[in-house]
Amino acid sequence: MASGDMPYDGRFDGDPFSVLARVFGHAGFRGRQEEVVRHVADGGSGLVLMPTGGGKSLCYQVPALCRPGVGIVVSPLIALMEDQVAALRQQGVAAAALHSDLPEGEARKVLAELHAGDLKLLYVSPERLTLEGTLARLDTLPIALFAVDEAHCVSQWGHHFRPEYRGLGVLAARFPRTPRLALTATADPRTVEDIRAQLGLSDAPVFRGGFDRPNIRIEARPREQERAQLRALLREHAGASGAGIIYCGSRARTEQTAEWLRGEGQDALAFHAGMEAADKREAHRRFARGDAVIMCATIAFGMGIDRPDVRWVLHLDLPRSPESWYQEIGRAGRDGLPAHALLLYGAGDIALARHRVEESSAAPEQKRIERQRLEAMVAIAESATCRRALLLRCFGEEPPQDSAGSVVPCGNCDVCLSPPRLFDGTVAAQKLLSAVLRTGRRFGVGHVVDVLRGRLTEKVAQFAHDRLPTFGVGKDLSDAAWRGVARQLVAHGALDVAVENHGELVPTEAARPILRGEEKLMLRADVARQAAPSRGGRVGGAPASGDPLFEKLREWRRAEAQAQSVPAYVIFQDRTLAEIATARPRSLDQLGAIPGVGRTKLERYGTAVLKVLQD
Ligand code: ADP
Ligand code: ZN
Repeated sequence: MASGDMPYDGRFDGDPFSVLARVFGHAGFRGRQEEVVRHVADGGSGLVLMPTGGGKSLCYQVPALCRPGVGIVVSPLIALMEDQVAALRQQGVAAAALHSDLPEGEARKVLAELHAGDLKLLYVSPERLTLEGTLARLDTLPIALFAVDEAHCVSQWGHHFRPEYRGLGVLAARFPRTPRLALTATADPRTVEDIRAQLGLSDAPVFRGGFDRPNIRIEARPREQERAQLRALLREHAGASGAGIIYCGSRARTEQTAEWLRGEGQDALAFHAGMEAADKREAHRRFARGDAVIMCATIAFGMGIDRPDVRWVLHLDLPRSPESWYQEIGRAGRDGLPAHALLLYGAGDIALARHRVEESSAAPEQKRIERQRLEAMVAIAESATCRRALLLRCFGEEPPQDSAGSVVPCGNCDVCLSPPRLFDGTVAAQKLLSAVLRTGRRFGVGHVVDVLRGRLTEKVAQFAHDRLPTFGVGKDLSDAAWRGVARQLVAHGALDVAVENHGELVPTEAARPILRGEEKLMLRADVARQAAPSRGGRVGGAPASGDPLFEKLREWRRAEAQAQSVPAYVIFQDRTLAEIATARPRSLDQLGAIPGVGRTKLERYGTAVLKVLQD
């Protein structure tokens, strides 16, 4: 037997709780962390499914520190590895990364440390780990565990398949007695089964954490005036520390949006799969280190966003499934502080996404699944009931119910915060559909609304649409309300939009029963949103600039981070700084009692922090 695969002999007496407190400065485990940590510390393997921000890292970091030998962590992104290593070193953990970008000399140094038994955690890229040379080295060393982060990369079902991950199956065969822990935020059952099969975890337990992220305020709005809505969002979060992410449906849109934001005086970046590897890495780095930075990205930007203080995530286009939306918005508020997710979408998005599914070359079964996911996403966007409840159901979680059996409103989505008014929209829908039919299914929503509102535009005159019986029958509703009716008819499937053409509205079969009066249609009255949420503007509870002490601590942290060229949050997270600012500790002991202040950080920064507080 290779010594790397030695059974745990129980001689090492690392206790998970004392490691958690001493090294990480945390008072207790969250959710299922403790269960996972104990299982792995005892030598067990498994799969952890937790949402982004759920606290997956501790699930392998703590047992690695409790067990003898080095913990090997597979991670798909160099930027992610480096930030994790930097954070661990700040906490006094001997950690290093091994990947293709490392200069020869540094790689040799890391290997020397590894062989000397000086490392507790080693982050490795999958291609590097699966080299025979690396595996042969590990055969000779005591290994605490293998952790496979972002484990869904092993599955071809997901959108993040990485061929290098396939080779990781070798670990099960080669190190059968060493614990292997796979971790992912993807809960899709097919992907989960694929991970288990590929990584030899079919007999190992699956630890599924709760998927709710109650600190994220969820909101979906029709996209009316994109730039104005974006400005309103920026105003709402102005002055808060932390970053923002804008997900865009196309590469061009990421660049245009970033450029526009820079014109508005924002620190904005673009990221998409078409960029050079080096540029992507640089964008990642700037995002990790920037203070109030905004990333405009396609869904290619995801893994490796380790910042705990992303305060908001905006989607400018409709995501293709609730799963991807949830994963993307989950990047906000990992620190547990209030965060905000806003989705802007239009009828065109819905139609375009549907056309894409229909025209894709995927197998019929795959198409059916994608169609279902998309319709679930549309339903969430158009929902008149709690959005969080709908989302959680997509993850197989039943939202809490009261004694009468109805869903308890989450209180932190726009529907719960200001319930939309519903009205019987049957007549409005009939008017709109008949305007579409009478104008010959050749016009977009703008012209159809002009006809309904009885506006004698040039186009109306040109086509003599003022002579139609539908001309002017819709004066009772505003333009925005009519666009809302049209969008909801698209969502309902009664209208299609010829997005690839000129955006003409085209009635479908589902329009017939509505026109014949056989189907009653309840519609939401789209309330034009007056900027702020119910909580009075700012994201309540997030550390605000304005508290002079918090600001001073941030300034100190910025200088410290720059001097060490690490992201600011690895020194102390915002949350910790905010607690320090509130508690105003006067001694090292008092400072050490604040969550997030472990021993090493206390030794390193305690005196400096107390000095900032005294000044
Ligand atoms: P994930 O990898 O699942 O997205 P992380 O491991 O990055 O999540 O953890 C998210 C955030 O939660 C981090 O800022 C981390 O410091 C914090 N965290 C995790 N576990 C705990 C805990 N037990 N107590 C306090 N904070 C925690
Ligand atoms: Zn809700």
